[in-house]
Amino acid sequence: MSEDKSFNAFQMAQAQFDKVADLINLDQGSRELLRYPLREYHFSIPVRMDDGHMRVFRGFRCQHNDARGPAKGGIRFHPHETIDTVRALSMWMTWKTAVADLPLGGGKGGVICDPHNLSMREQEQICRGWVRQVNKNIGPLADVPAPDVMTHGQHMLWMLDEYETITGGRYPGLITGKPVGMGGSLGRTEATGYGLIYTVREALKHLKIDLKDTIASVQGFGNVAQYAIELYTQLGGKVICAACWDQNDQTSYSFKKKDGINLEFLRSITDRFGGIDKNKAKDKGYEVLPGEAWIEQDVDILLPCALENQITKENVSKISDRVKMVAEGANGPTTPDADAYFEKNKIYNIPDFLANAGGVTCSYFEQVQSNMNYYWTKEEVLDRLDHKMTAAFWAVADLSEKRKINMRDAAYIIAIQRVAQACKDRGWV
Ligand code: GLU
Repeated sequence: MSEDKSFNAFQMAQAQFDKVADLINLDQGSRELLRYPLREYHFSIPVRMDDGHMRVFRGFRCQHNDARGPAKGGIRFHPHETIDTVRALSMWMTWKTAVADLPLGGGKGGVICDPHNLSMREQEQICRGWVRQVNKNIGPLADVPAPDVMTHGQHMLWMLDEYETITGGRYPGLITGKPVGMGGSLGRTEATGYGLIYTVREALKHLKIDLKDTIASVQGFGNVAQYAIELYTQLGGKVICAACWDQNDQTSYSFKKKDGINLEFLRSITDRFGGIDKNKAKDKGYEVLPGEAWIEQDVDILLPCALENQITKENVSKISDRVKMVAEGANGPTTPDADAYFEKNKIYNIPDFLANAGGVTCSYFEQVQSNMNYYWTKEEVLDRLDHKMTAAFWAVADLSEKRKINMRDAAYIIAIQRVAQACKDRGWV
């Protein structure tokens, strides 16, 4: 889905996997099984558009692995969606649920479409059409979708409604990220961003740095970025730069304020797709810099919270010497070349499938609540989330120390070993 045509997320996910499979001497059968999704569905979704003509959208669902529990992962709406991106993301979901120690597997779905140019009715038809095509292959005990890039609670509710219409029952555990009051969990909106900062807080303890003395620069201003900024500043950190699309010219800019950006103000000038109005930001005294500028800021922490393939061979050397940590809110923001640079320059990395596991962890809590039909308070949800993220972080940090390997490799070792063991125990390989 990245704009860079030569970038293939699935090849990157496989390269990361192969490296760790070598490191742990993974047997041949497990390697072959885990290098590809177990199942994938490709389908067409015909939609009558508002102006009366028919359009056919391409949809996907990949179930990478479900040895540890039902496949789990979001559905993305994006004009540059590709099957390889969905494959990669389904694989990363397997590692994510495993490293967070959730009884779930990994899946991902997508539709090639641009919600910016679709009415809500047209989007509803895409959601319902998506479920009509795969309803036999998903389900509360088989594969549980969720929101992802450019999808949200309303989309999930339409999908649930279509599923329940087809199956003739009420199955709130089918899908997560539902609106609160309609089977959703309190805390789900905050979960990914807050989860990211729980891991940053623990990592700073580990590095013996006081969070209150740190400054961060963020890429993105969607759900993950906004809640990460919220909790990080509540804990005493300062964010001086956030990179985001402008809602008028669809170009990315970095919005900078040396004494700290104001989250509430930036939220107030953001549209529902996460685009900022750059003129209003300028009027309020923000420096409007090129989109890439977020990465070269003189800060302690970088938080890439947008898309994959953002920290690459081309731009990684622009990172300031002051940066001590990169915590990945997005999926796949760092390429293997950039990873090597982090290692050489002693930049502490909290890898994506650990750092952003808060979303799916809360999705798991939502599924539990939906299946029980009994809902917890927000404090209960966030408490449990903190507990899970903290435990996951320390398991990875301890292994990384013990084996003198970087955090990504340590997280991969834990995840792959758990999944490979489940496949073995089931007698699959
Ligand atoms: N889309 C989110 C992710 O990439 C959440 C997935 C889920 O909740 O199932 O982790």
